[in-house]
Parts: sequence; C-alpha cells; structure tokens
Amino acid sequence: KKWVYLFHEGRADMRMLLGGKGANLAEMTNIGLPVPPGFTITTEVCREYQKTKQLDPEVIEQVNAALTALEQQTGKKFGDPRNPLLVSVRSGAPISMPGMMDTVLNLGLNDETVVAMAELTGNERFAWDSYRRFIQMFSNVVLGIELHNFEAILEAHKKRNGFTQDIELQAEHFKAIVPEYKAVVEKHTGKPFPMDPREQLMAAIRAVFESWDNPRAQVYRKINKISDDLGTAVNVQAMAFGNMGDDSATGVCFTRNPNSGAKEFYGEYLPNAQGEDVVAGIRTPYPIAHLKETMPEVYQQLFDLCELLESHYKDMQDIEFTVERGKLYMLQCRAGKRTPIASIKIAVDLVKEGKISKEQAVLRVDPEQINNILHPAIDPKAKLDILAKGLAASPGAATGMCVFDPDRAAKLAGEGHKVILVRPETSPDDIHGMVVAQGILTSRGGMTSHAAIVSRGMGKPCVVGCEAIKVDLEAREFRVNGRVVKEGEVISIDGATGNVIYGEVPVVDPELSPEFRTLLSWADEIRTMGVRANADTPIDAAKAREFGAEGIGLCRTEHMFGQGGHHPERMAVAREMILAETTEERMVALEKLQEMQRQDFYEIFKAMNPFPVTIRLLDPPLHEFLPDAEDLAIEVAIMRERGETGSELQEKEALLKKVRALAEMNPMLGFRGCRLGMIYPEIYEMQVRAIFEAAAQCNKEGMVVEPEIMHPLVSIVTEFSFLREMTDRIAREVMEKHGVTFKYMVGTMIEVPRAAVTADEIAEHAQFFSFGTNDLTQTTFGFSRDDAEGKFLAQYVEQKVLPENPFVTIDRKGVGKMVEIACELGRKVRPDIKLGVCGEHGGDPSSIEFFQSCGLTYVSCSPYRVPVARLAAAQAAA
Ligand code: PEP
Ligand code: MG
Repeated sequence: KKWVYLFHEGRADMRMLLGGKGANLAEMTNIGLPVPPGFTITTEVCREYQKTKQLDPEVIEQVNAALTALEQQTGKKFGDPRNPLLVSVRSGAPISMPGMMDTVLNLGLNDETVVAMAELTGNERFAWDSYRRFIQMFSNVVLGIELHNFEAILEAHKKRNGFTQDIELQAEHFKAIVPEYKAVVEKHTGKPFPMDPREQLMAAIRAVFESWDNPRAQVYRKINKISDDLGTAVNVQAMAFGNMGDDSATGVCFTRNPNSGAKEFYGEYLPNAQGEDVVAGIRTPYPIAHLKETMPEVYQQLFDLCELLESHYKDMQDIEFTVERGKLYMLQCRAGKRTPIASIKIAVDLVKEGKISKEQAVLRVDPEQINNILHPAIDPKAKLDILAKGLAASPGAATGMCVFDPDRAAKLAGEGHKVILVRPETSPDDIHGMVVAQGILTSRGGMTSHAAIVSRGMGKPCVVGCEAIKVDLEAREFRVNGRVVKEGEVISIDGATGNVIYGEVPVVDPELSPEFRTLLSWADEIRTMGVRANADTPIDAAKAREFGAEGIGLCRTEHMFGQGGHHPERMAVAREMILAETTEERMVALEKLQEMQRQDFYEIFKAMNPFPVTIRLLDPPLHEFLPDAEDLAIEVAIMRERGETGSELQEKEALLKKVRALAEMNPMLGFRGCRLGMIYPEIYEMQVRAIFEAAAQCNKEGMVVEPEIMHPLVSIVTEFSFLREMTDRIAREVMEKHGVTFKYMVGTMIEVPRAAVTADEIAEHAQFFSFGTNDLTQTTFGFSRDDAEGKFLAQYVEQKVLPENPFVTIDRKGVGKMVEIACELGRKVRPDIKLGVCGEHGGDPSSIEFFQSCGLTYVSCSPYRVPVARLAAAQAAA
C-alpha cells in the first residue's frame, strides 16, 4: 500500500488522502512553481496511528525511501556534516484547521550540521539561531517541554548583555544558549537531545499525528463540524530559509483583498525572518507593496505566480512564500479565508472575468455567512468585555441599557433611550417591550422560542437561552459569573455569535452591494423551489418583497387579535370574545374583530399582489390573550385587602376565574390550533369571512387575489373535512353577497405525526400542505420547543447524542421522515398537491437541501432570511 507520496506524485483533488496542504503542494509542484521538494504521509497513516499509536514498519520504510529521493532532488543529505538536508514537518488536514496542530521546522540540525550550515551560508548567527529555535520547537512539540523553560534562558542572556530584542543576540550568544537548552531537555526527559536526524524525523512525524487529537484541535473540529475521523497528513519538506540575511524574507499574500474582495495584491512580509515570526507578531511586517522597492524582481515573480495560481484554482488564494538569498520559494497555497462581503464580491467578479460559471459562483458563497451581513454587525476589530454566551437566535448587533420589564422598556424607549430587553423568557405579553427594544436577551428558551421567532420576524438581534445569566426581575438586575448588572447599565448583544457584552460596542452597518443583488439574481435563475416569507403585517410583507420573497407562506393571525403589541385596543376586544358567557355576546366581539381583520388582510393582499398569501387561522391557546393568573390573583388579593367591593373587583374576579378555567398543564399540547375552530366555530368563521371579504374587495379593485386558507394543528381528517366545508360555505356566501368570483385554496399545516401518517386521508380534502416543522419537531420528538434547548438539548448536541439542534436543522431521520411520508401519501391521492414548509427550518440551508430532495414547492421563512433561502435553494438545486 502506498502510504507516502512525493509531491510530484499527488494532485489537487487528492485532499482527503494528502490533506489540503499536501494536495496543493503537489499541484503547485506539478504546474512548475518553485516549491521546495518534499513528500506527504497520508491521512490514512494518521487513522492507523490513532488506533495503534505506532508507525507501521512499512510506513517507516516508505518514509526512508522518500527521504532518499528528497536527498537526490536537493543534492543534500540528512546529517551530512558538509551539505546537510534540513526539513520542516507540518500537519495538513483535508479541511484547513489553521494553527490547531503542530509543526517542527529546521529538523536535521545537530551539533555537526549546525557547523556545516554556518560554513555553507557564511552566516554563523543564522545557523546557531536556527539550531536553538529547532531545539526549542522540537522539545516543545515532540517532547512536551513547556516553552517558558527556554524563554527564561533566552531572556537571561538578553538581560545579561543589556539587550531588549532577540535581533541583538549574536552567534556567540546562541552558541552559549544551545548547551543550556540541551540541559533543559536532559533534565526533563532523562535523555540527551536526539542528534540523529532520522530519529528526530520519526519522532516529529508521530508528534504531528498525535496533535490531531490535542484538545484545541478537538474543540476546533467540534465548533466547525469537522469529523474526528478525517485525520491529518504530514508534510515533510526541504527547508527554505527566510532568515539568511537581508536578501531573504518570508511572508503571506492574498490574490485579492480578503476583507473587501477587491482585486488587489494584498499581504505582508518580514525581511530576514522565519515564518513563525510573521505569525507571532513580535516584529511588525511590511505591506507587500514594500517588497517591490526592496526586491523588485522577486516581487514581480511572486506577483506573476500568484496570478497564475489564482487562474489555475479559479479562486482567491492565500499563499505563503519565502525568499532565500534572493530566490523565491512557494511554501503553501490554499483558497483564502474571506469575509462574507469579500466572498460575494470575489464570486461575482470571477464570473465577470470569465473564470467560473454563475452556478459555481452561487455554490461558492456560504448562505449562513450572508445571513450576518444583512444586519449591523459588531466591528470585528473591537475589544469586547464578554459577559456570557447564549444561543445566537437572530443576527445583528445591538447596544442599549438593560431593562427587565416590557412596560419600563416602552417607557424608557419613549423617552428616547435605547434599551435591551432582558427577560428569563418572553411571552406575547412582552411584545410591546420587544418592539421598542434594540435587541432581546433571554436566559431560557431555544431557537424556536417566542423570543427567537418574534425577533427574527422583526429582524432584531436576539440572544436566547443564555443560562449563565441569572435574571432577578424584582431587583431589576442580572448576575453573571459573580458580576451584577443593574437596570440602566449598558450592555450589547451579538445575535450572530450569541455573545453578551458589557458596555457599548462599535457597530458596522450592513451593505447590500450590487454584487450581492447580482449573485441573488443568479440564484433565482438556478433554483426550482419557491421562496416565500413568514409575514403577519403589511410592513413585513413589503420588507419580504424587498428581499425577494415570492409570496407569504405563513401569515400568523394571532397578532390580529392584539398579540404583537401594535393594537392594544384589539387585545381588549379579543378578551371580550374570550370572556363572553353566551354565543350572542361572543358574536358582538367577533363582529368588531372581523372588521379589523378584513382591513389587515386587504392591506396584506395589496402589499403582496400578485403573489400568493397563505393565512393561518388562530393557533395559540386562548390564555395567551389573557393576563397572567398570578399577577391577577395578587391584584385581586390587594383589592380585597383594601376592602374594595365595587364592580372593578368583581370584573377582576370574573377574569381570574376565566383565566384559571382556561389554564392547562400542557398548553402547547392543549386547546389550541384547529381545536379552537372546532369548539368555537364562530371564531374561525369570522376569520374566514374577513379573508374572503378582503379578497372580494381586492377583486373588485382589479387585483388578482387567491387566498390560501390554512388550518393549523390538524391531526384527524374529520377536523379538516369539517373546517373545509365551513370554509367553502363562507366563500360561497361572500361571493354571492358581492356578486364576484375569486379562486382560493384550503389546506392544512402538517405539524403532528398523526397528520403526517394519515396524510392520504387528509389530502382527499386538503389542497395544500404546509409543514409546520417547529411543532412537528416538538411533537415527533416529544421535546418542548420552549424548554428543551436550555434544559438538555444543548448537552445532547455537545455529547453528540444528536448531531444538531433539531429545532434549527431538520432531523432528517425522524422529523424528515414524517415530511417524506406525508409528501408521498399526499401526492398519491392528489398528484398536484402544493407542498410547502413554514417552520423555522424553511430558512436553514441544510434543511432547505433536504426539502429540495422531498420535492417541496416552496420554503417560507422570516423576511430577513429570504436572501439566505434564495441562495440555499439554488445550491440545493445546482
Ligand atoms: C410550526 O409549528 O412550525 C409553525 C410554523 O407554526 P408556529 O411556529 O406558529 O407554531
Ligand atoms: Mg405550529
């Protein structure tokens, strides 16, 4: 078996086997770039090594053979006291993990070869400096000796000579330092520092393989969702020295600006230095343009080679180079990391330059990344005092004084203050505080909690489930890690990272560049699924259109009953409706609500015309429209205490009775959704009438409006057939009344397993399905969407019980299976059935990929995620 590849034996597409660095070194070698020769030990060896903790004899044999080839290529020999070969030993995983694993440079130096290097280069200082660096690095990486042991010696020598900088140390000083370094090694390991280069090499190779599993690499993989099974390759490469004098240098450059994406040669370098000096930031590097003045020929060659590399890879490259006595070497190249803005600009520019296709451009940009640029973001250069980290529920940065109660938030905001609403969790009662807040922070709740959904809908920054924060509503303060933050103190939240920060932060504004619009227009050409928005108001509808939504996939009507804080007067009418003792009384309230809702629907239809609008009838449990039982009980008790007996007390008592009567142990599994419409048909009838009246009005005005009426939480076909009949009856009545005809559709949400597995029965009556994957996830797992994330789900993901938070990314095996079953059963009965999704997953790229595979007609998500969904849908179709 082939375990070791000389550079010229590999190719760019072998990155799984050779790692990213190895594959690119091979590719660069083969296109004739000046790459110091070397070889790559494959990731397969790493996987074996993880099992056995040993290098197979066959691997050792192949390494030795490759070393011989390397000696021939360079004309140098390992350990040769006249012309020694020195190598670097570097990690290189299939997916880049910058700085997470180990590297050893200058390997091959010993007491003899250091003398040879001094003679060969005529530079004693360089040779002995390299040697002491090698001892230090090898001892740290391979032998596990902490760096401070060596730093202390170096510092002592500087001090003794009155120096402040390393540069001032001369050859004689390094010569004195080396034996002291070696003594440290002997003290720590009980053995002398290894002088045999082959022994050094084998030990270094093992150390790099070991470093695959060091804690920081493990954490990095977890954060970036990189599989632990990939393993790293090891690259052994002849050294090129950037520290041989003033005609030597080392640096990093990019073929385009990684921050803005502008087409300009970008980077920095250090003369007379080795790679780690640039990274360590001890000396300040020069901008790459400076090289043009000091080494014009080298600069031109580097510039040309970078252009060549970019054309070859058809992407922006990040290149490491070294100049050894005037000769340029390319040490590494890879697709450069870039900001979201740069990512878009580069992709679009490459298409314009004829280097890639529109499809490739669309695939190049990460939809998750662009989500963040649709919102103001914290200046990446800012220093932050981070208090805690919660779930990043809705992106954007916000600063304001913390306020713990929605009424005070509304009051303070009214006085012109910027506020951040901090709550244990939010409920519909808090909406007026949320509306005026810059951002929302909760200590409980997950990604589909009330706070998260509402904030996303408003495009407001939000951090939820920040359990480190202990909110004390009474004291109007929160505690976090021993600190106390009181009402009025300024905090900031970063809804893109989940960070909660003390004090104000500098913010940079989003920019919808022309390139961004271009990229999205290409995405629209490619995708096959529609993208709609979840929007409940004419304003949201307009915003959704601006972002490119092709309709409303979910209009949650609860806010038309006063939820949402915009219409306190409606809340009063809604309460009237709920508290009514008789049907007649209820009808009076309903009539008022009907007129209000008719007006809303009319506005929304108008804003969305000619796109379709799906309206969901009332869904939440009724108690959400009533005051909190505990608050009310306290009020009543106080009034009684004061000896009050008047009508106000009686009203409050009656209200309390009703609130208690409506209370449920499990409201989310209770009297909500279409169950309300079944038991109080007059509520749904009123809503349906309001919708059709609005449609009739639009039609009279010449708009083509085809409302899609959606019944929520159906689990039994009989529920749906009953509601369908009611809907059709009212449609006929309204059409007759106005002497108009209009088209409409009646469908259901699929959000409980029973609906999914009996979807064929339901499809007999339903013209469309819309998957309510928030509830479907809740009901399929039996996980409360309000509590699970804070209580155990985060740990589940941490411990890999679940690969992902299923409220964010659809659980394909279980919840996804429900979706597939329902699609199949639905289509069997009604081949042209319209299938959409309106849960939060409708805006999640990985879930969108899954919905494409189910053949859904459209996805629907919050207005601000529409661009993300457009791009993700194009990627899923490409
Ligand atoms: C759902 O359950 O996925 C849904 C869209 O409805 P809601 O979030 O309003 O319950
Ligand atoms: Mg639902």
